[in-house]
Amino acid sequence: MAKEAAIKEQEETGQKVKFPKRKKTQERVFEMMEKARENDRKWRDGKTFSLVFYPGEEIEALIKKAYTTFFFENGLNPTAFLSLKKFETEVVSMSADLMNGDSEAVGNMTSGGTESILCAVKAAKNYGERFKGIKKPEMVVPMSVHPAFDKAANYFGIKLHHVPVRESDMRCDVEAMEKKVSKNTIMIVGSAPAYPHGVVDPISDLGKVAEKHDLWLHVDACVGGYMLPWVERLGYKVPLFDFRVPQVSSMSMDLHKYGYAAKGASCVLYRNSEKRKQQYFVYTEWTGGIYASPSVSGTRPGGSIAAAWAILNYLGEEGYMRIAKGVMKATEKVKAKVTSLEDKGIAVISDPELSLVSIKSTHRKMDIFGLGDELGLKGWHIDKQQDPDSLHFTISHGNVEHIDQFLLDLEEAVEKTWKASIHKTAARATRTFTKGMSKILNEKQMTNLVNWLSKVGGGGLPKRTAAMYGLMGELPNQGDVDNLILDMLDGLNRVE
Ligand SMILES: *Cc1c(COP(=O)(O)O)cnc(C)c1O
Repeated sequence: MAKEAAIKEQEETGQKVKFPKRKKTQERVFEMMEKARENDRKWRDGKTFSLVFYPGEEIEALIKKAYTTFFFENGLNPTAFLSLKKFETEVVSMSADLMNGDSEAVGNMTSGGTESILCAVKAAKNYGERFKGIKKPEMVVPMSVHPAFDKAANYFGIKLHHVPVRESDMRCDVEAMEKKVSKNTIMIVGSAPAYPHGVVDPISDLGKVAEKHDLWLHVDACVGGYMLPWVERLGYKVPLFDFRVPQVSSMSMDLHKYGYAAKGASCVLYRNSEKRKQQYFVYTEWTGGIYASPSVSGTRPGGSIAAAWAILNYLGEEGYMRIAKGVMKATEKVKAKVTSLEDKGIAVISDPELSLVSIKSTHRKMDIFGLGDELGLKGWHIDKQQDPDSLHFTISHGNVEHIDQFLLDLEEAVEKTWKASIHKTAARATRTFTKGMSKILNEKQMTNLVNWLSKVGGGGLPKRTAAMYGLMGELPNQGDVDNLILDMLDGLNRVE
């Protein structure tokens, strides 16, 4: 019995998990899972910005039912499951329609924005090699572009040029981008919008560059694809960002963000099938038969394809417009509140077109990460960003009902942060100390020091994390930061 208790204890604490020898009851399995999620972010309280896009109970039931109905089906072979073939092609067709693609426009569903981007980059690389003989491919992207492009460049051996954004409005600097274009450029990229500040890059101007140099232009509408069309129809000012710009070759848009579909659903779209064909992979010599796969994944979950089809049909333009209207109203309120607190040293960065808002400090007395911590202490989950230091809010349906509470908490947190605090001084001292030490210690010692500091000062919620993030920004050697993050990631992917 003591041994049983020890095993139970071991399982609960997750210590050195061995493959389970014995069967458990279902109750036990679910009990263990409930325990595991005890300290998870309670997103149902509406206090989590980004990460979760919650459409409400009624739609939750719909997509769960659709997902489980096709739970076991595999989207790898579309001839085996004509249902999934129908769902995928229809989701793609509806999405291309939303992006103003013509009858030539095609695409595929993928597991998410990253996979859509990997697919588009792979297609552009093949296209460049096949039709232009490009052997040493390069891409030109704005600094604000999603790191999935860095990932793609890293995976596929492509040289990536990051170009600064315009200081005035954080949108991509088209002239600077053009300067980096060479005969090896396989793709240039604009975002609609870029995640950090929620602003749409000047896609039409990028189109002109693409035209002049005969380039593949990708528009990353991962976060905005299923939101911007409604925002535009609601009468807000939205610049052209989709296939209406004739030089746009491909687009990415995530169903599992403002499409409110089940996780694991995105679309990659192409202007025509000649371009999409470059995305496909075929191997004809395998002993298991001819193998063909459209995207990065082999096996593809039927559930997320079916759930996406279900929600698009259920809501339609009417339903999405209603949701978008509420989200935009909430966003307006947040922007107005920030403006009303201007004299306390905060401001919205640039002029975001939709519902992603980031806030920076405009006064040395306002420690923006300190403000983030205050909001964290009140239970709000927000992202901290750098260059410039800022807080990021992706507002979606799940936040709308709670936005008035957020405004109250924001005002209170701003007041508190405005009054100089001991934490602020401590954070600054830690930064100065680390900066000094970095001149004396080698990289390994430095990593250990930073690790130690992060254990003392950071990690977990709702503790204060401003010092930790700020400190990373202050480290003079990028190598230190990279190693530190790699160590942290390694730790996160291990049983503790
Ligand atoms: C979320 C996002 C991505 C990546 O999508 P994942 O689904 O997280 O892989 C790419 N680009 C932008 C602009 C995004 O917001």
